[in-house]
Amino acid sequence: MRTIGLIGGMSWESTAEYYRLINRQVRDQLGPLRSARLLLYSVDFGPIERAQHAGRWDDAAAILADAACRLEAGGAECILLCTNTMHKVAPAIEAAVGIPFVHIADPTSQAALESGTLKVGLLGTAFTMEQAFLKDRLTAMGLTVLVPDAQERREVHRIIFEELCVGVISDESRKVYQHVIASLAARGAESIILGCTEIGLLIKPEHSALPLLDTTLLHAQAAVAFALDGSAYGER
Ligand code: GLU
Repeated sequence: MRTIGLIGGMSWESTAEYYRLINRQVRDQLGPLRSARLLLYSVDFGPIERAQHAGRWDDAAAILADAACRLEAGGAECILLCTNTMHKVAPAIEAAVGIPFVHIADPTSQAALESGTLKVGLLGTAFTMEQAFLKDRLTAMGLTVLVPDAQERREVHRIIFEELCVGVISDESRKVYQHVIASLAARGAESIILGCTEIGLLIKPEHSALPLLDTTLLHAQAAVAFALDGSAYGER
């Protein structure tokens, strides 16, 4: 089994979910007492969030590249960045290490292609919904990406930072998200990418009229596939 390296803490509410999902999948695949070999470097989200909202992406990139180097030095054999938004600085992180970087958009676009839903609605932070870094990687794979309108984007973003990242899960916010999903469906979306690693804490498949592509789950699955892949790496 290869050792997974996680850069987490953005927020820790979703990082805890990664830990649970990865270990559960390893147990399901290898047996009841099996668990993942992994290293977690969990950052303080405060400075990262301030850098995001001030547009100081280079500062955030330096913190995350440093985290990746520490994981590599500690024995990690791949890097996962447990947030969609910070994939904006994925190139800086990838350049800092010699081990594979498992990009969150790749298992997500693969799942969309496999499900035959080529027109996807994207929910996430304003950075993720409005900037190109994630959308471009999805469209390069042949997907058409729809995002909510400006007012809906503001609400989706606000709920992520004011509620989901601080452990607040409310029925009222779930209704807001369900309404946004319905608007995207009316515009032709065939599935919904939960493009923020906390949204799966609020919206489960039973809450959505459209199939969900949960980036947290898909990214965790990709990590497990990497860890368990290949007889060249010895006994599983
Ligand atoms: N975890 C979130 C994401 O997947 C939001 C927190 C952040 O801005 O990093 O985008």
